[in-house]
Amino acid sequence: MGEHPHWYTEGVSHIWLPYTQMKTATPPLPVKATDGVRITLSDGRELIDGISSWWAAAHGYNHPHIMQAMKAQLEVMPHVMFGGMVNEPALRLSKRLADMLPGDLNRVFIAESGSVSVEVAMKMALQYFFNRGEKRSKFVHFRGTYHGDTLGTMAVCDPEEGMHGLFGDVLAKNLLTDLPRTRQDAEKFAAFLKKNAADVAAVITEPLVQGAGGMVFHQAETLRWLREACDAADVLLIVDEIFTGFYRTGTRFATDQAGIVPDMVTLSKALSGGVSPLSACVARAEIFEAFYDDDPSKALMHGPTYMAHALGCAAANASLDLFEQDDYAAKVHAIEGQLMAELAPCGFAGNVKSVRVKGAIGVVQLDDARELEALKPKFVERGVWIRPFRDIVYLTPPLVIDKDDLSVLTGAIRDVLGA
Ligand SMILES: *Cc1c(COP(=O)(O)O)cnc(C)c1O
Repeated sequence: MGEHPHWYTEGVSHIWLPYTQMKTATPPLPVKATDGVRITLSDGRELIDGISSWWAAAHGYNHPHIMQAMKAQLEVMPHVMFGGMVNEPALRLSKRLADMLPGDLNRVFIAESGSVSVEVAMKMALQYFFNRGEKRSKFVHFRGTYHGDTLGTMAVCDPEEGMHGLFGDVLAKNLLTDLPRTRQDAEKFAAFLKKNAADVAAVITEPLVQGAGGMVFHQAETLRWLREACDAADVLLIVDEIFTGFYRTGTRFATDQAGIVPDMVTLSKALSGGVSPLSACVARAEIFEAFYDDDPSKALMHGPTYMAHALGCAAANASLDLFEQDDYAAKVHAIEGQLMAELAPCGFAGNVKSVRVKGAIGVVQLDDARELEALKPKFVERGVWIRPFRDIVYLTPPLVIDKDDLSVLTGAIRDVLGA
């Protein structure tokens, strides 16, 4: 460990880190620069990124096409308010998202963070029913799920989850249940939803993978069952694609594998390629129509200061260009095969409960979470950035990672776990 730069020693006692017990935490690493799949620390060490900056940097860092688009936008206009005015990057982005999402998902509300886009989806769902003259106040959500850190979204996360467990008593009361994984569960779920329909505005789920809840997978049929149950009970379906969107599970959206049309979809993370805070809540035409009225009180009263941020939208448009120009499904398919082959030996290590892979997500789950904290520095020593959490060691590499760099990541996991 070399000398820390001046800005680090001066500033570090003033920052508050995320999800961190500041008293006992190992000090954060000072980052100097990023490039491709590499993060350079201030002392010159390079780490290959196995996490893609919380699953966002799908194209790697400093991609020239995104950088160029942002520089061009910066020359003209970094941002201008979205109230009463619109900007070109935001409108181009809205049209593109509407074109790529299935069915009539075609009204786009662009915000800054994932949590806020989920809040917007929840608010739309509540008001959709208010505007129809129905007071519904609850959401159905699932064990193991994560939708954000704001108070509204915390109330649809898994309440037992270490992250928000403390707040159970003060959060809005919603209806928690298990994701249906068999036909029988699905029938029970449909009956449960029908029984509670008068109170429930929407069912909210992550599609195919519950990410922050521990990278737990489910089949595409689960999503079809949710759609059917929602249709039968006249309840809306919100699908949170913030983690899964843009090829992480192999298809452009995880929902594509189920062939369903949710009522609202939330997007963030890889939307801007991990470059700018940006999110979107995309609603179906029917949702929009419930707000479209001569009565001003039926309007959606939401408008973050930085919504539809022009610079962020320019980054997102460039990120979408890349997804369109190159075959990301093929890239993810290759990553998936390599993760399966190279993580499989971990299954034979002591203390490993399961090894699983979906798309560009590779997971090694341990029997005992207690030793995970101690593993973190071992990865940095091996020149990789891998952040175990709960009871898992996982990889969500940039989708552009090459075979050799990916092998360094999987090799580090095998090595550290003694596989
Ligand atoms: C990360 C994430 C969020 C929250 O997004 P932020 O930008 O961190 O607020 C919500 N839902 C899912 C599925 C996520 O993975």
